Amino acid sequence: MPSLPWRDIDTVLLDMDGTLLDLHYDNHFWMEHLPQRYAELHGVSRAMAELEMAPLFEQNAGTLNWYCLDFWSAELKLPLRELKLETAHLISLRPDAETFLMAIKQAGKRVIMITNAHRDSLSLKMERVQLAPYFERMISSHDYGFAKENAQFWDALHADIAFEPGRSLFIDDTLPILRSARTFGVAHLLAVSQPDSRKGPKNTEEFAAVADYRALIAGL
Ligand SMILES: [Mg+2]
Repeated sequence: MPSLPWRDIDTVLLDMDGTLLDLHYDNHFWMEHLPQRYAELHGVSRAMAELEMAPLFEQNAGTLNWYCLDFWSAELKLPLRELKLETAHLISLRPDAETFLMAIKQAGKRVIMITNAHRDSLSLKMERVQLAPYFERMISSHDYGFAKENAQFWDALHADIAFEPGRSLFIDDTLPILRSARTFGVAHLLAVSQPDSRKGPKNTEEFAAVADYRALIAGL
């Protein structure tokens, strides 16, 4: 992992799921818990549940709908908020994420969360891990009506918080989102090498990746 030119960075934009929080919660919820509860509540087999859900997942990946609990509640005819609570014990911080937040805040950086998570998911998570005090703002892309993958998200963010892309660092575990940020002009970009603690390191392609937050703050 390359060391960061911290003197050239005054704003740190951070994703939530897979970046600060272990993606295991989300992966487990969408791939295991939700199909299982769909099967139970609609009285179909688990295999049938997955068959019925697969085209919806395919059609909506990378869009704001994908992250919208209202959308999925309506499409699947299930109480998504309640179902998410059933596995809330799996919500947890990635290693040293809080140490990192503490360090960059103490160093006087402007720290802003930008997440595709729905406001209800964000609230549920912030009840479990108390990260809110570290952030100047916690922005859900639903506030703007565009997912972070979309160029219009970045225009809306810029209009809202007036950050300087050339003096900003953005960390996110989703590569199409990093590419969208790069197109907008965000100068310092990092992926996350292991967003889900139960899976191995992922290929972050053209992006350098955070493997250890302690190493990242070394030169702060
Ligand atoms: Mg993420």
